[in-house]
Amino acid sequence: MQKISCKYCDTSLRVRTFTPGFEYSCPKCNGLVYRSASSPLSIVVMSFSTLIIFYWMITSNILTVTLIDTKSRSILDSIVILFQDNYPVSSAILLITIVIIPVLMILLINTIIFGKKLGFNHNILRSLVKIYDLIKYWNMAEVYLIGILISMVKLEELTTMEINLGFWVTLMYVIMFYLTLIWFNPHDILGTIDVKEKDENAILKSSIYLILALIFVIPSNVLPIMPTYKFGVEYNNTIWEGITALWEDKDYFISLVIFFTSICIPLLKIISVLIMILMAKYGIFKNHKKMMTIYYRVNDAWGKYSMLDVFVVVIAASFVQFDQLVRIESGTAIMPFTLVVFFTMMASKSFDVRLIWEKK
Ligand SMILES: [Zn+2]
Repeated sequence: MQKISCKYCDTSLRVRTFTPGFEYSCPKCNGLVYRSASSPLSIVVMSFSTLIIFYWMITSNILTVTLIDTKSRSILDSIVILFQDNYPVSSAILLITIVIIPVLMILLINTIIFGKKLGFNHNILRSLVKIYDLIKYWNMAEVYLIGILISMVKLEELTTMEINLGFWVTLMYVIMFYLTLIWFNPHDILGTIDVKEKDENAILKSSIYLILALIFVIPSNVLPIMPTYKFGVEYNNTIWEGITALWEDKDYFISLVIFFTSICIPLLKIISVLIMILMAKYGIFKNHKKMMTIYYRVNDAWGKYSMLDVFVVVIAASFVQFDQLVRIESGTAIMPFTLVVFFTMMASKSFDVRLIWEKK
């Protein structure tokens, strides 16, 4: 038996010794308290295979687009082209979330596993776990993959398009990386329990991030996110105009997906953090603690999907550059919109959900 406290509601629990594949949920709030890692060997094999596929993914062409001439692009091409076309923010978003963070995560996973085996200093390993926990939310491989699918619909309207090998490699990579991540639990590898210390300033930090998110909500919705030029006519699309244009083109499903991820998720996140701050401070909605805790976890899992529209724009803009005739640009709303996503995620992450259970 091992004594642990729930990281969501702080209830003290007694759990039997952990075996591989073991999962334990809190009986009071339903939160997943503990998940054992798979065998270190299988994680190492899977993560190295993922790294090989990763190199193949970023260098092979995803799509070929033909209009006036023919363009094939890999992820690395997109990053370079966006940078050369003076979209450093869009280029950096791709570089950080699709290239740097996944590679860093795989390196950390292996350093932690081998470090434990070779008897590295425990405090150094714990610091590495902290870094891992901090960056894992910003790995956006699967959001990028869905972004490719949606940008295909937009590209089909303007050009002739062909799917290349790189697309299937990306799909394979996302599945393998996902497996690596669910097999790996750094706390289990180190034999420590994953309960963060209570942060006395959690409410203040969360409030500051929330205010910062709110500041950027207006420019992100007013500025154009994807200015499109078709034979001399400019379509200056804001997020909302993009959603209605898709709806009018009878792309109902995609229109709803973009509406949900770009408008609903950030909005729901802002409202939920606000409610949780009020619950922790003033003890309102006392009977809804369990529901709010579940909602907090759902929010955490879905938050990054708000970035979907950004990836759609970034992918489309790196392909559709046919002189002045047909052109898609990465709009000025990209930066404020990304900041809204970033700050809402930080507001939720820095909040300590145990605080709403503390308030009697
Ligand atoms: Zn609990």
